[in-house]
Amino acid sequence: MTTEQTLVKTLDFQLNIQSDNEGLLYAATLEARSVYNETIRLAKEGVDWNAIPDRVADDANLVKNTTQRVVAKALGAMENYYEYDDFGQPSHTKDGEYPLRANYEEGYSLSLTDDGDVAFRISAKPYKHVTGVLEGSDAHLDILKTALTSDEWKVGTAEALFHNDNPELHVNVTNTEQTVRHKHDSRTVVGVDVNEDNVALTALSEDGVEDTLVIDFPEIKFKRHRYFTIRKRVQNAGKNSIHDTLEGREERFVRDRLHKVSRHIVEWSRQFEMPCVVFEDLKEMRDSIDYGTRMNRRLHHLPFRALQFYTSYKASFEGIPTAWINPEYTSQRCPLCGHTERANRNKKRFNCRSCSHQDHSDRGASINIAVKGIKKHQDWNVPALNNLPTVRKVRRQASGAVDAPTVTHLTVRGYQADGRVGVSD
Ligand SMILES: [Zn+2]
Repeated sequence: MTTEQTLVKTLDFQLNIQSDNEGLLYAATLEARSVYNETIRLAKEGVDWNAIPDRVADDANLVKNTTQRVVAKALGAMENYYEYDDFGQPSHTKDGEYPLRANYEEGYSLSLTDDGDVAFRISAKPYKHVTGVLEGSDAHLDILKTALTSDEWKVGTAEALFHNDNPELHVNVTNTEQTVRHKHDSRTVVGVDVNEDNVALTALSEDGVEDTLVIDFPEIKFKRHRYFTIRKRVQNAGKNSIHDTLEGREERFVRDRLHKVSRHIVEWSRQFEMPCVVFEDLKEMRDSIDYGTRMNRRLHHLPFRALQFYTSYKASFEGIPTAWINPEYTSQRCPLCGHTERANRNKKRFNCRSCSHQDHSDRGASINIAVKGIKKHQDWNVPALNNLPTVRKVRRQASGAVDAPTVTHLTVRGYQADGRVGVSD
């Protein structure tokens, strides 16, 4: 049985507050914390969950339906705890801010301005508003503007919160016409390893590796370096206008290439049976311990998250689900024997210290990502891997066309030569 779910996106923005009352928003997030704590406390006391929203709302200095949303989220945490865990109950004694969750057009509202910006109004306290405009990536702003003007999209709840002391708004939007297959109902898991000059893909099914592909895009890295050098020179000469022009041009170039690469990933993934695209979740990594120079470099590299976002967005329009896994050790683990050691990897070469397996290291990482995706989300087993197909490499050219493959292997599923994969830009 295939289940489907609606297409929901969470769009992240920075709040450019123009009403000069950031403190009010901060105070509201502290109030949200006390609502959360009170809810958890009452739930632990055994109070009937249906009675909790009203009991908490009476004392909270928040818009009533905002309080209800925060209570619902706290009860959701309790529910998860009952379902999945025997220990580690949600805490009711933490302090500090907690996201202020609000209903659209009740606790917060959005509107398009004449300048093409998106203005926000958040009711931080009853009859007290925080206003300004949203700032964020083009990709997120584009979807939000579409959602505000199209019947096909519905704007839903949002969370106002502080991230590294900066106010943000995370907005949920739902596409009412498109559905996405549930990620648990997949027969193929495509691991995507994003690097600064390539992306490695491996499709893994219960039968083993279906296919593997490395898409090189050295020009993105090259362009970024080139513009960076020019910019430095221009900056030193104090010519700001040229500097701005170059920055805009560079950004457009990189964005355009990332769109094409992400489309290629989705086209490639579509050929497999019930695919699920799996990425590394860098948010999880940032919270964990030292993750080495490779991860650091990728974290600070702009295209990384954008490529993940574009790919996930395009995949969902094909009904293909996306999933996220913890990136720990994905680049150090041997995909054949499982031996994990930093010394296994030397730049682009992987050489297992235990079983001597040699490979393109990014391809190996993409297999490990797929393996984690299967373990986390599928009810079928990770296949035993004894040998792997040769890595096939393609290169994105400035024209958008794809080179002849630099390495070929017999295709398992009749997948055609790379010039004809049906990537339409
Ligand atoms: Zn090994």
